[in-house]
Formats: sequence, C-alpha cells, structure tokens
Amino acid sequence: MRARLLAASFLVSAFACGAQPALAQEKSAEVAAVEALGPVPAGRLTDAVVPSAYRLDLVIDPAREAYSGRTQIDVTIARPATYIDLHGLDLTMLSATATIGGKAYAGRWTQLDETGVGRLVFDEQLPAGEAVLEFTYTHHFNEGPAGIFRTKVGDQWFAWTQFESIDARQAFPSFDEPGFKVHFTVTLRTPRGLVAVSNTPEVSSSTDGEWDVHHYAQTKPLPTYLAAFMVGPFSVAEGTIPATPERPAPLAQRLITTPQNAGQSDFALDATARIIPLLERYFGIPYPYEKLDQITSPIMPGAMENAGAVLYADQIVMLDESAPVSSKRVAGMVLAHELGHQWFGDLVTPEWWDDIWLNESFANWVGYYVADQWRPDLRVWEGALGEGFEAMDTDALVAGRPIREPILTNGQIDAAFDTITYGKGGHVIAMIAAFMGEEKFRAGVHQHLTNHAFANATGDDFFSALAGAAGDPRIVSAMKSFVEQQGVPLVTVSGSQGTYTVSQSRYVRYGSKGPDVQWQVPLCMRTIGSAAERKCELLADKSMPFAIAGDGALLPNAGGTGYYRFELPAEEWDRLIATADTLTGGEAQAVADSLRASYLAGRASPEQLIALTRKLAANPDSYAFAEAGSTLALLDTGGSLEGKSEEAFRQLVDGLYASQLKEIGFDPRRGAYAGADAETSERRDRLVTRLTSAAHDAGVRATLLNAARAYLGGDQAALDDAFMADALAVYIDEGDLARVKDLAGKALASQDPVFRPAALGALAGKGDAKIADWLLNGFKDERLRPTEKLRLITGVLRREKTRDFGAEWLRTNYRDLVQQMGGIFVTRSIPGMLSGFCSAKRASEFESQFGELVANTPAQLPFERTMEEVRDCDALVAARGEAARAAVLSAK
Ligand SMILES: [Zn+2]
Repeated sequence: MRARLLAASFLVSAFACGAQPALAQEKSAEVAAVEALGPVPAGRLTDAVVPSAYRLDLVIDPAREAYSGRTQIDVTIARPATYIDLHGLDLTMLSATATIGGKAYAGRWTQLDETGVGRLVFDEQLPAGEAVLEFTYTHHFNEGPAGIFRTKVGDQWFAWTQFESIDARQAFPSFDEPGFKVHFTVTLRTPRGLVAVSNTPEVSSSTDGEWDVHHYAQTKPLPTYLAAFMVGPFSVAEGTIPATPERPAPLAQRLITTPQNAGQSDFALDATARIIPLLERYFGIPYPYEKLDQITSPIMPGAMENAGAVLYADQIVMLDESAPVSSKRVAGMVLAHELGHQWFGDLVTPEWWDDIWLNESFANWVGYYVADQWRPDLRVWEGALGEGFEAMDTDALVAGRPIREPILTNGQIDAAFDTITYGKGGHVIAMIAAFMGEEKFRAGVHQHLTNHAFANATGDDFFSALAGAAGDPRIVSAMKSFVEQQGVPLVTVSGSQGTYTVSQSRYVRYGSKGPDVQWQVPLCMRTIGSAAERKCELLADKSMPFAIAGDGALLPNAGGTGYYRFELPAEEWDRLIATADTLTGGEAQAVADSLRASYLAGRASPEQLIALTRKLAANPDSYAFAEAGSTLALLDTGGSLEGKSEEAFRQLVDGLYASQLKEIGFDPRRGAYAGADAETSERRDRLVTRLTSAAHDAGVRATLLNAARAYLGGDQAALDDAFMADALAVYIDEGDLARVKDLAGKALASQDPVFRPAALGALAGKGDAKIADWLLNGFKDERLRPTEKLRLITGVLRREKTRDFGAEWLRTNYRDLVQQMGGIFVTRSIPGMLSGFCSAKRASEFESQFGELVANTPAQLPFERTMEEVRDCDALVAARGEAARAAVLSAK
C-alpha cells in the first residue's frame, strides 16, 4: 500500500453519511451475555478454528446503497465448541450456519466491538473436525476508501475495494488476519453490461435475470486483505508484457479506469511493461499470478497491491509524458512499489501485522530502486532518501514508536502504516543494502522469497536470509538496532585534519530530552577534494576513533544512505557548506537535513542556514536545489517573520530565484516545454512555486493569473499541468468569495484528475474567514466527495487567519468525519491538520478537546506527535525567533 506523497491532501465530508454506528456506547445485555461465554480476542484470534478456503458470492450494484453476499468458509474446528470467534464489521446478518458431517447447526451472530470482532454462538456443541460456515448478509457501500466503497463519476456509479488492513470484514465474514492465507473462489453478480474485476481471470459467465454472473478462477493462497472486487462501466485498455528469462510466456495486462480517463492509459501500460521485467530480474522469480489488472479510482488516496488487481488513485497513474516531472517520478515509484508487493507482501506475506513494516519498508525501497532503472532520466532514486530524511523529523520526536513493535489490539494496526514504516524503513533497507553490497542483499531477498513462496514469514526469517547471504551476522544486530528502537542517531564528529572521534547519542530538538539509546550504526564517511577517501565502519560503541585521508571538507554521510544525523565543529560545518553547490542530490539532502536538525536543536546559526541555502540554490541537481527552499523556510518557523523582516525574506527569496527563472525561461502554456530535459523542467516548476508563494514575485504572479483566467475561460492550451496549482492559488488569492464559489462549481463539473483536485485544493488559500466558513459549513453539493472535503479542511487549517476557526470546526465534527470515512487512510491523518499551530497553550487546549476522541484509535500517536511539534515550535520561536529576524534583515 502507498499513500500519496503530498501531505494531508485528502480527507472527508460531514454530510450524507451512510455509515451506522457499529455499536452503541453502552453494551446491550445481549452483547454482554455473549461476551461472558469466553475471552474476546482484542488482537489475534486463537487457533480454535482455522479457515482453509473461502467461496464468496457477492451482489454488487454500485448504483444501490448496499451490497449483499453469501460467504462459505471451510474451517477446521480444533476442539468441541459452542461458539466461534471471527470478524465481521457492521454486517446486517441474515443467516449463519455451520455444517458438519451433513448436519446443519444454526448460529447467532453478534458483533462484539467497534473493530469488527464477532462471535457466532450455537445452541448445541459443535464437534471438532472439518466444517463449512455459511453466512448471508448485507452491508451499505462506504463513501470513503475502506471496505467496498462507491462514488459517482459524471452520472455513473462505480465500486472498488480497499481491505488493508482490516476492512475485508466489512465485505464478508472472515478470519481477517494475514496469517490465514488460503484459496478464494469468487462469484460476482453485477447489473448487465458492467465490467467486473477480481484477483483472478474470469473463467465463465452467465446471466440471471437482470444480472451478469461472473465466475473467477480459484486464487493462489491469499490473505483476506489482498482480495479485491471492482465493478462499474469502466473503460479497459489492454497491453502485453513481453516474455523474460524468468517467465517464458508474455503476460497480458489491462488498465481499467473510469471513462473520462480513457486515452490516458498508455503511460502506465508502457511503464508496467518495463517495470515487471525489471522486478522479475531483481527477484529472480517470475510474476507470481495468473493475470495483471491495474484499476484506478478518483477517491483512492493512494494505491493498494491487491494480488493481480492493483488499485491506484487516478492522479497517480493517469498521466502522459507531458506531465510534470514530479508526477512522473511519483507514478513510476508507486507502480514499482505496488508491483514489487506482488512478490514481497503477496507471494510472501507477513505472519502478523507487527511485521507489516517488512512489506512496506522493502516495497518503498524497491519502488524507488526499480523506478530509477525504469527511467534513469527522471532520477527517481534520490526521492527515496528524501522520504527517509523526512521520516527523521517524525522519528526525532519523543512521542513515537520503533519500526517494528508488538501489535496487541485491532486499534493499533492502522497506526503502523506511517512514515516510520515507509520512510525510515525504506532508508534502513537502503543503508543495509549499501553496507552489505547490492548483490549480496539481492541474494538474501531471493532466498527469503524462495523459502516462503505462497506462504507467510516474519522479520526474523528475513534477517536470517540476509545474514546468510552476507556471511556476516553483524548485519542482523545492526538492522535490529534500527528496526526495534525508536529515534534517530546523532553522530557527533570531533577532531580535524583526518583524525576524528565519532560518538553517538539520540538526536532531540531544542528543549526536549530523549532516553539514552545506542545503535550499531553502519557509518560511511568521505572527504571532499584532493586525495579524498570513502570509508565505512560500524559504530557499535558509544564512540570510536575514525581516521580518513584527505584534507578537504568531511562529509559524514557518504551517498546520503545512512539513517543518522551528524554534528560537526563550526569550522568543519563552514567547510562543508562551502561545497554544497557541487554535492550530489543524496548528499545535499543529508547535509541540509543535518544542518536544519542542528538549528532545531539550538546549535547551528541562522546565518549558516542562509549560507547553505545560497549554495544549494546554485546546485544544478534538482534534489539539492529542492533543499534550499526547506532550509530557508525554517527561519519563518511559526510565522515568526513579520513586517520588515517578512519583506526582507521575500526579497531574499526573489534575489535567489528570479534571475534563475529568467535564465531558463517561463511560459505557462500547455506543452511549452514538451521534450525538455527533466532536470530543467523540475527546476522551473520549483522556481515558479517559490517565486509565487515565498517571494510573492509580482511578474510571475501576473503571468500565472492571466494563464488561469484564460484556462478557466475555456482556453485549455493556456496553462500546463505543471503550473496548475500555482496559477489557481494566485487566482483565488486575488479574488473574493464569489470567485471561490465559481471555481468550486467548475471543479465539481470536471473529472480531470489534475484540474479538479488542484482547484479544490486552492479554494481555502486566501485565508479569509468568510470563505473558510462557506467552505466548511455552506458548501453542500452532492458531487463533492468525502475525500475532497478533507482537502478543504486541510486548506482552512493551513492558513494562519482561518486556523482557529478550522480547529474549532474539526473538534465539533471529528466524530462524524471518522465515522463516515474511517479506514486506513483517514483517521490517522487527521491530527496532522493541526500541525500549523505554534503555541504550547493551544497544545494544552487541544489535548483536553481531542484527547478522548483520539484515545485508543489509530489517531492517538499521530495526535501526540502533532502536539509535541506544536510545543517544540513555540519553544524554538521563543529561543531563536529574534536571531532569525536579525539574520534575515541583514542578509543581502
Ligand atoms: Zn506498500
């Protein structure tokens, strides 16, 4: 699975809710009586009853409000029992029976908690042995991306599924755990003429009155979370993936999307035809399933690796070669991530959710690694490092969790899909791969997949496969020290001239204290300049000497693959900063991350941040260049610049970038830079964004405003997708409520996967109270999807002037939002909306307002992290705000 990269870009609606409360707050006497029969599993089910196959027969008409199903499960009952525990969430159960040795036993179904743990109770004791459970039931379609969900696109209805982590239980009663990997036989009944897709090829079809009946081949063993059903009047594009040394026959592929995207399928089909062979070569194993369909949905916030039926957000894969470089990078990375999961996750599945990190950390790493091979010109790889450094910001907080931790309750599962799992986990994999050498690492991966094909495995299985391939047991303890401990190592370097001492501690920000932790850090340093050397050693103790040749600057994170931050003596920092215009993208990110971290810890000066920004802005590498913006932005933490210093800041930004944009040119018209080299295009996109927002450059804003007006007036060629968000932001910033309403109407009338989200994302940008009130309370239109409402809330909370209003609205509507959307993508992302605040007082208020709402839900840890950030921000501004203002005022 993969959430979109753009932070907080999705969320919910407060109206038209189809969901029903799972259970009343107070337990009924009936539930209490069922509970009293035996302990209710809060996390894993017991081994009392084990499934061996599912037969699912579902009636799915996306135009109706509910679907219905008949589910049969073959199980083995270990010992005589009067009840069976399994999962089912908000199902309206019509019948439930167990058939054993030809005798049917009628059961009574009770859902016992809000996560969908249920109990099937019988009047007489069931004997041990083989049994068939059979259920008939109905359930409403969800509006948010969880379970079976639907939406209207134009005037047609479509339905998709998103089951990871524990939402398959909304679609069918099940033993909804990854360790139960069994065969599924699926039948879908759909209105005549619709396209219906599941995990395997359709082997036969028939009609039954007004229904088409689709029968699918039995699946290979799958966990419930990888089953998939998609139904609607889709448009289908077909392609072929050529044979490879690992797979002698060509593989058919289809791209299945809503009709307004038809004609946009070639890019993804072509990328897939190249990425699958790269993955097969990497793993040394052919694509494991019978067919490959990839489906898109406008309300999916990310992507999901359902075996043979992968689901994506429209925005991620519906593009063509003319799309912005950043979009093509994301498309390639997400395709390679989800397709990589077909082996790592689907073919070999974690035994339990405590090892989901293994799925996602590895897929994150391989996604960037293989996409980089797919299109070397796009330079996808350095993006992986960027995600790792971003994760360090989260991992540096005192509130947090290690990559791998026990999952004891259902409520903890979704919280494991966070930046620690993806960004940190991917970076740790990269660090170990670089330290082992890529060939040995690949051999370990191959061994792991071969050992556990079509079955389950644990993190320890993976560690031992790697250690075997490396011939070095230290790999296991080094990796475990990162996987099983929270926090970012800070490597402090002292000494000079090639003779250094390195020591480790846990990195913390200004005013914080972290526990004393020790890692085994695979440390790779290099020197820059004449007689330079690169050297790797394992820092296993608190400190050790480190000798390295060369008399130039010291770079303590060579290649940027190390998951650690570093601190240098001031003069060593200055020497390193002076080289930042020539560093590679990965190393520039490492240097910028460590200097920013040093500033946030109260050490590096604002002047050093400005010096580094100037060097990075002059670096020709697009990733290095990108770091300039986030480095300088630190000086405006918590909006501490105002009046004269704010104006000086704008001039500083304009001075850095305006001449660069002039040099490479700026024409907002569609396709003006078609065929241009990727690095220059990426640089132009970023320059335009910075000059529009941070610098408020009048010339660039005027150009964008004219382009937006022409585009909205019907001239489709006036504005390229690369500049769409910036242009619409200026258009709204310089308009009024009437303009906001007009653009909102245009957005909802469009199904364009670039324009529609960009327009909705722009609506709250002015930071105007009346507009914010209309967006959250007045804007009611059935075409506005729940996921799109989240964009509006995020936008309102992002602006200083409407932030308090947004927080109050969020508090009032929190329960409805979670109730309506739920699912893995939404609940845990809501607290981040409050991250723009910078006040210890507000943090305390939020804790009393939201504390109970988030307790014991996937939002709890994200909320704790956000509140810590809000307090840290306050402390940083108090300690350094004045120095930052002075540095900006004196920067020339
Ligand atoms: Zn994933």
